[in-house]
Amino acid sequence: MGGTAILTVSDLSKRFGGVRALDGVSFEIREGELAGLIGPNGSGKTTAFNLITGVFKPTAGTITFRGTRVDGNPPDRNAALGMSRTFQNIRLFRDLPVIDNVMVGLHMRHGTGFWPTVLRLPVARRSEAEIRRRALEKLEMLGLAARAEQIVGSLPYGDQRKVEFARALATEPSLLLLDEPTAGMNPQETADLGRTIQRLHRELKITTLLVEHDMKMVMGICERLIVVNQGRMLASGAPAEIKADPSVIEAYLGR
Ligand code: ADP
Repeated sequence: MGGTAILTVSDLSKRFGGVRALDGVSFEIREGELAGLIGPNGSGKTTAFNLITGVFKPTAGTITFRGTRVDGNPPDRNAALGMSRTFQNIRLFRDLPVIDNVMVGLHMRHGTGFWPTVLRLPVARRSEAEIRRRALEKLEMLGLAARAEQIVGSLPYGDQRKVEFARALATEPSLLLLDEPTAGMNPQETADLGRTIQRLHRELKITTLLVEHDMKMVMGICERLIVVNQGRMLASGAPAEIKADPSVIEAYLGR
C-alpha cells in the first residue's frame, strides 16, 4: 500500500525520570489508512499517543502532521490542525443529552465555545441548526440518532463509547486517534465496535490510528500494524505478516 504520510514520527523518545517510556521510535501513518499501534503492556503505546496528541512533550525526536512540526504543541492546537481523539476512560458530560455532547465537539472546532453551547446562549444559536444537523448525522451513522435527547449517563457503556466516537468524528478530523476504544467492553461490544470502526473508516475515509490491546479486534480490522515493545519499534506490516513475525510472537509470549 502506497500513500503519502499524514503523520511522521521520527526517532521519538520520552523519559519519565529514569524510565525510558519510548526510545527512538519512528513510524508513519499514511493518508486514508486504518492503522493499529500495538504492543505488550508497558511498551510505550499510551506514551506515543500522548506525544502525538500533545499531552506530553517529547524528550527527543520530531512529530510532523500534514507537513507541519507539531511536537510540543498543546492538544488544542493539534485539534485545530485536524487531530481528533477519544480517551481510554470515557470523557463525556454524563448529565447532558447525547446530542449536546456531540455538539460540544463541533463548537470547540468552530470556535463557538463550550459555555455558549451548554447554556444555549444566542451567540451559539447562529450556527446551531447546522451544527445540530451535523451532530445528528454522525449519531445516525453510529445508530444512535433515536437516543439523541437521552442523558449520556443513562446509556449502556458500549453506546457511551459510540457517543465519544461520534463527538470525535463530528469535528471532521484528518486524523482520528482512538485510545483503547474497547477498554472495559465485553467481547460482544468489542466485536460490535470493531465492525463500527471499520465501517466508518470505509465510509468516511478518515485516516485512523488506534491503540488497542485486544489483538483479535486489531488483527481483524486494521490494514497495517505498528508494534512497539519496551519503548522500541519492533515491527510494522500487514496483520498477517505481524502474526507470523517471530519477534512479535516472542514479545507477547515471552512475558
Ligand atoms: P502502554 O500504553 O504500552 O501500556 P505506557 O506508555 O503506558 O505503555 O508506559 C510505558 C512505560 O512508561 C511504562 O514503564 C510506564 O510505567 C512508564 N510511564 C508511562 N507514563 C508515565 C508517567 N507519567 N510517569 C512515569 N512513568 C510513566
